[in-house]
Parts: sequence; C-alpha cells; structure tokens
Amino acid sequence: MAVSANDHSSFKLMGQFGHQQLVFCNDSATGLQAIIAVHDTTLGPAIGGVRMLPYTNVDEAIDDVLRLSRGMTYKTAVTGINLGGGNAAIIGDHRTQKSEVLLRRFGQFVDRLNGTFIASLDIGTSPRDMEYIHMETSHVAGLPKSLGGSGDSSPFTAKGVYYGIKAALKELYGNDSLAGRTISVQGAGNVGEHLIAMLREENAKVYVSDIVEDRMIEVANKYKAVAVSNNDMYTLDVDVYAPCALGGTVNKDTISKMRCRIIAGSANNQLRNEEEDGHMLMEKGILYAPDYLINAGGLISCYSEIAGYGISRTAELTENIYDVTRSVLRKAIDERIAPYQAANRIAESRIAAMGKIKK
Ligand code: NAD
Repeated sequence: MAVSANDHSSFKLMGQFGHQQLVFCNDSATGLQAIIAVHDTTLGPAIGGVRMLPYTNVDEAIDDVLRLSRGMTYKTAVTGINLGGGNAAIIGDHRTQKSEVLLRRFGQFVDRLNGTFIASLDIGTSPRDMEYIHMETSHVAGLPKSLGGSGDSSPFTAKGVYYGIKAALKELYGNDSLAGRTISVQGAGNVGEHLIAMLREENAKVYVSDIVEDRMIEVANKYKAVAVSNNDMYTLDVDVYAPCALGGTVNKDTISKMRCRIIAGSANNQLRNEEEDGHMLMEKGILYAPDYLINAGGLISCYSEIAGYGISRTAELTENIYDVTRSVLRKAIDERIAPYQAANRIAESRIAAMGKIKK
C-alpha cells in the first residue's frame, strides 16, 4: 500500500511538481553519493546537467535536483525540442573529491537508467568529466568535438541570447536593429564575450562589468566596450541589461534602481523570486525575456549532438529562439501576464498536447 505523500518530504515535493523518478546512487568503494532526478519524459529522455557541489545536507541536494530538473522540462518544452527534464547532483567538492573512478561509477548508475536520463555539463563538471562518464554509458551529451560531441556550447548560448535581445527590441521599438542601441552585459565570461562580439559587430554601444577586473578590461579593450563597476550596472540608462554572470541579480533591491527597458541575458534564474520580481518588472514597464528560453542555445547544441544533426541545424534551431521569444512576449502582453508565465504556459500546453500522442 502506498504511503501518504505527506509522510516523506521528497515524495511530497515530487507529487507537488509531478516528478517521475528520484534515484539515489551510493557506492562505498568510490565514495560516490549522487542523486538523479527525472522530472518529465513526455517529450523524450530527460536531459540534465550533472553538478558536483559540497552540499551541507542531502535535503539541499534533493531540493536542487528537483527544482533544476523541473526547470529543464520547461526549457526543453518551450524551445520545441524533443527532450524531457532531468538533473543530477554528485555530493562533494569538485576541486578535491572528483576523480576518474568516481565519475565512471556515476556513469554506471546513469547507464542503469537505460537512456531515461542523459547527463550533460553543469557547475563543477567539465568536458573531461563527461568523457569519464561516457566511458561507462552512451547517455551523455556535451562531449568534446574530438569525441564526436558538440563541443563548447557557449557560442550557441550567446547566439540565442542575441536573438532574444533582438526579439525584445522588436517588441518594444518595432525594429530589431542593434545599431545605436545601448546594452549592458554583466559578466565577461564565455557567453558574455561571444555576446559582446556580436553586439559590437552590429554597432551597439556596450557596457561591461566583471568581478575579475583584468577580464573586464581585457574584453572592454578588445571589443571597444565601456567597462563599468558592477554597482553601476543596475543604474545605467540603457535599452538592455544582459545578466551573463550569476542568477538572482533581478530582485526587489535592484529593480527599484533599474533604468533599462529590457532584461535579456544568459544567467540562469535571473529573477530571485519569480512571481514577485516578474510582476515588479511588469509594473515598472521593463520587458523581461525569460532566461530559460533565451539561454537555450547550449541545450540546443546538446540536442543536436544526440539527434545527430550538423552545425547548420543547430544554428537554425538556435535562430528559432527569436520567433519563440516574440510569441512569448506577445502572449504576455495580450494576456496581461508576466513573460515568465507566458513561457510556462506555452511549455505546459506543448507537454499536454504531446502527451496525447505518447503510448
Ligand atoms: P563563465 O564562468 O565563463 O563566465 C561568468 C563570468 O561572470 C566570469 O567572467 C565571472 O568572473 C563573472 N562574474 C561572476 N560573478 C560576477 C558578478 N557578481 N558580477 C560580475 N561578473 C561576475 O560562465 P558562462 O559560461 O559565460 O555562463 C554565464 C552565465 O550563463 C552563467 O550564469 C551560466 O549558468 C549561464 N549559462 C551558460 C550556458 C553556457 O552554454 N555556457 C548555458 C546556459 C546558461
């Protein structure tokens, strides 16, 4: 007889968010402790990042994988690709506790899921780690090009953000030209640099910040962008603020200072509190291009690797982010809802529709 969902908080959360599976991987020989969450496989196998972090307790790791796997389901659904949502957490410090044997053991656990879960990169794991996991299972995406994989995903992520920015400009100003537009990019990392290169190529005026000052100066000089402090990022009078560093930078403290017209960047979970901050942006008249939609270029690149597509198909699917962003923003305006809600509804209705043709 099934126990009541209230008897265990994991079942309660899984029931609340509709998760299918939560797998605990434990191996005393290698010291592996990992958790794999499969949220929804209606659209296809659940793809998800494998993060390695020194969680202070198991509940924290469970909470992380449940939340992130659900987010991945929405991301794949709204992007129009045929994958479901998953996520995995290896508990430990990636700087000191990661090893070949640990990752290969993890790969064996992934293999036992027979393709229900496809492992990819996340915080604390590298392409080399994917190679180790791949030694034990074929259910891996994001491999280096030398192993037949799609390689570095950040150029595609940046390209998707570029299309998201253009779609938001079109919605707000009626044309999507970047020439003369002002854009502040927070974070001059892999994605940030590729994005800045594309924006400058089309004569946008770019401001850039990074906590690593040398990096900020290097990128600013290379692309003739203006280096600014992180604090000034929020108060700049610009067309677009593009968060490409950390999540949570859009919150009630920063929104109250913001003078941008659009927020569109690559960072995950930009809104610290989705509902509260999403509505505050609406009230302030700032157009928000949902992060999980416009940063999907990297996911699309992994999908192409799985589907066996070439680079031109990856580019086409990434370009489609423009049209999807336009539909999401239109829906939000027509239905007087926040863009994150519009994106969620489009994702949910695609999953419900495709559920009808699943055996
Ligand atoms: P990255 O680590 O290469 O770059 C991040 C940059 O942000 C670094 O230069 C870092 O110094 C800087 N930074 C960190 N904290 C900062 C702060 N408080 N203020 C200003 N700068 C700060 O990472 P990336 O691959 O460029 O990814 C950027 C963001 O996009 C991340 O949030 C990532 O999760 C997200 N993202 C990346 C991809 C991808 O394909 N790389 C895909 C989806 C989402």
